[in-house]
Amino acid sequence: MVRAEDVHKSFGRLEVLKGIDLAVRPGEVMCVIGPSGSGKSTFLRCINHLEKINGGRLWVNGRLVGYRQKGDRLYEMREREVAAQRRDIGMVFQRFNLFPHMTALGNVMEAPVQVKGLPKAQVRERAVALLDRVGLADKRDAYPAQLSGGQQQRVAIARALAMEPALMLFDEPTSALDPELVGEVLEVMKQLALDGMTMIVVTHEIGFAREVGDSLVFMDGGVVVEQGRPRDVIENPQHPRTQDFLSKVL
Ligand code: ADP
Ligand code: MG
Repeated sequence: MVRAEDVHKSFGRLEVLKGIDLAVRPGEVMCVIGPSGSGKSTFLRCINHLEKINGGRLWVNGRLVGYRQKGDRLYEMREREVAAQRRDIGMVFQRFNLFPHMTALGNVMEAPVQVKGLPKAQVRERAVALLDRVGLADKRDAYPAQLSGGQQQRVAIARALAMEPALMLFDEPTSALDPELVGEVLEVMKQLALDGMTMIVVTHEIGFAREVGDSLVFMDGGVVVEQGRPRDVIENPQHPRTQDFLSKVL
């Protein structure tokens, strides 16, 4: 579903990704941890075409997104295909960024109607089912301001799922939540994982990574320092930087 080979990304002279090698198979849940500024969000944004890589190779959903080896010309996916691919990738951010002037149902219906041009009645039926799936059947007419952070984040997940994505990216989806609201969002994500969704989850929730993740990646300073089965990385980290980070978050 995702393959990165020696992926590099710079902003001006600041090199943020310094050669990332990763692979995510269909149905896999990969969790990514690491200190602030290590390039986790940038990597997700490259997968979702919000940033373009400067070097290495990146495939998403079986298609080459970007490619540059030393001395070669840069290959970039055509805009048309980028747009098509972005429709197949759902992303949930730390901040819920729902459309404030739309109800929960309106938020979930928006993209399938506007982007895919599907008939409203059909989209509505699916949106109702999705809100039910994230435990918000009774909140479909509520506006974001009337919902708790955890409820808003669950609407955001339903909204992403409405596009029937092949891949879901989560960027610290619970970091902005009050502690008592974290569990309800993680539970929805866990169910999604059990349903077979391919997911990349940047998170500081080590318990979630251990229980739900198939693999765990520790990033620091723009490189993958360590990766493996979550239990192995958490209980028996090999690299001193991983040990140091885990000792601070556990
Ligand atoms: P993380 O998500 O691991 O905290 P980020 O990927 O957000 O890290 O950021 C990695 C580094 O890249 C940081 O130093 C950040 O300031 C820088 N950065 C991210 N986006 C941009 C941008 N659009 N322009 C310049 N610098 C950026
Ligand atoms: Mg980040």
